[in-house]
Amino acid sequence: MMTGDFPLDVFQTLRTPFYYYDLQLLNQTLQEIHATKGDFEVHYALKANSNLRILETIAKSGFGADCVSGGEIQIALKTGFAPEKIVYAGVGKTDWEIELALNENIFCFNVESIPELHVIDELAGKLRKHARVCLRLNPNVDAQTHHYITTGLNENKFGINLSELHHVLNVLKTLSNVELIGLHFHIGSQILDMNVFENLAKRINEIQNSFSMLNEVNSQFSILNCGGGLGINYEHPNHIPIADFKMYFETFRKHLEIRKNQKVHFELGRSVVGPCGSLITRVLYVKKGSQKQFAIVDAGMSDLLRPALYSANHRIENLTSHEPEEIYDVVGPICESADVFSTEYQMNQAQRNDMIALRSAGAYGEVMASTYNQRELPKAIFSH
Ligand SMILES: *Cc1c(COP(=O)(O)O)cnc(C)c1O
Repeated sequence: MMTGDFPLDVFQTLRTPFYYYDLQLLNQTLQEIHATKGDFEVHYALKANSNLRILETIAKSGFGADCVSGGEIQIALKTGFAPEKIVYAGVGKTDWEIELALNENIFCFNVESIPELHVIDELAGKLRKHARVCLRLNPNVDAQTHHYITTGLNENKFGINLSELHHVLNVLKTLSNVELIGLHFHIGSQILDMNVFENLAKRINEIQNSFSMLNEVNSQFSILNCGGGLGINYEHPNHIPIADFKMYFETFRKHLEIRKNQKVHFELGRSVVGPCGSLITRVLYVKKGSQKQFAIVDAGMSDLLRPALYSANHRIENLTSHEPEEIYDVVGPICESADVFSTEYQMNQAQRNDMIALRSAGAYGEVMASTYNQRELPKAIFSH
């Protein structure tokens, strides 16, 4: 087991639990994206991790921002993302959020319904602004991932169904303050099967073709936004620390029919920040039951919700112990039966005060932390 990358001596002086971010790995990941994306444009999906230091690092490297709330637009601007590289999605945009986005002149709204189009048009009119919009369409492609992170099926709350397309185009003709510049798709998260992205690309081609037939006037979009969703390897974070960006972009380069003067956008979250973060926690007690033994740690679902929310599996490493492996249910201290990180997990024999790393927790980890049970929010520390 490779655990040498963790500064255990530093960890031992700190109060647990906390998030530890390997900025070197983050920078390597950003370089890999630059090296493989060609002329595609990548917007980082802030919701995966909006820690200031992480955002500054990503902004400095030149990526745009994909926001899903007014708060995210504000923090993106504060950490150095350029307004003209900010896109804004979300099924429930409020008036103040739309006004903020208009006043800050962000690049574009990814619009998820017809009523939203009307509201953006009205608010833009009041502010004498011009709103660029992409339609978030529901391509009805199955992401074949956990149902809580599947977003591209007709039954999901996200996006506009294709059956409504004709109607949307008619509505757009009546709105004078919004300009349709492209199409947006996002079908889900933690997708490792490139066939899913191939299906998405082909579906986008079909949709573009049918659009051209429907919409005589403006059949040429300047933007095709393929969303995010590229998965990471949660089982082997040491051996496969960087997502397969090369295959991902190649899949779209090969299968997406990109028209003249069209820009292709992506919105990657998990694959950018997931591997670089770990939640560091200490063993409080080892409790032996009649059938099981529990390693009770001082981090809980309030610090890392993914196992409880999505049945997600994080690799768990005992950074202290070199004893033979044993089988544990690794659980937190919170008064919920769902506060379990893993059941029947094999790790080096644990005892009180051992330091434990829950790996690949950089995405949808710290951002989802809460103070449930009046717990303190986990702090973050960084490799230099
Ligand atoms: C969450 C989200 C993303 C990022 O998804 P990842 O799986 O983390 O890459 C991209 N676009 C939209 C609209 C999202 O909601």
